[in-house]
Amino acid sequence: MKSILQSLYLLQLLDTELDDLRELRGDLPETVNAMEGELEAAEQRIEEIDSELKRGATERTMKEKESLELIAKIDKYKGQQLEVTNNREYDALTREMEAAETTITTNESLVQQWVEQNAELKASLEEFTTKRDDLKKELEIKREELKEILEATREEEVNFEKRREDALGELLERDLELYTRIRGAKGKAVAPIRRESCSGCYNVVPPQLILEIKKSDRLFICEHCGRILVSEEIAQEMKL
Ligand SMILES: [Zn+2]
Repeated sequence: MKSILQSLYLLQLLDTELDDLRELRGDLPETVNAMEGELEAAEQRIEEIDSELKRGATERTMKEKESLELIAKIDKYKGQQLEVTNNREYDALTREMEAAETTITTNESLVQQWVEQNAELKASLEEFTTKRDDLKKELEIKREELKEILEATREEEVNFEKRREDALGELLERDLELYTRIRGAKGKAVAPIRRESCSGCYNVVPPQLILEIKKSDRLFICEHCGRILVSEEIAQEMKL
């Protein structure tokens, strides 16, 4: 039993160290992640706007070309009208000219629409390009910060993780479950007795109970805070 209590206490020490290392990183990893997502979204939007602009330009050129061709046709029809010999032919040419005029008018309004849309798209493109460039710069700084912190803490972290694995190997599943549950609720799962009190909640532990805990032959839970109590001796023996 004593070795289980020692392992639980050791696990607590290691987890506290690992928590501290992770705290040092703060929300930097999440920040970098979120910024990468934002950057990706901005780049995607830029691409979309670019292809919309290109599509608009191509269609505009097509419509303008069509209108020029129609203008030439109208001229031709006008010439033909001077040479027709009957009303039927004359009217047919008039209808052709009217149809061409209608298409030219439609094309003009389409072109006008694209001119307006183009201006909006360009403004939006500028906005997203600025956003992307800012994000890139900021992200570079944050990535560098994170890299430095990771490099500074990696060795220690790997060492603690390794020793944590070893400590886990000493524990039964139910002990680990208990530990994990209390840790989840309290942050720290194991509290050594200090000055006749539980070091987790500072409530006094009765002398008789302290003697029992000292024997390290079973698991005691602090009745006030629910943490696993270990003797002062175990805390002194087990140092990182
Ligand atoms: Zn307590």
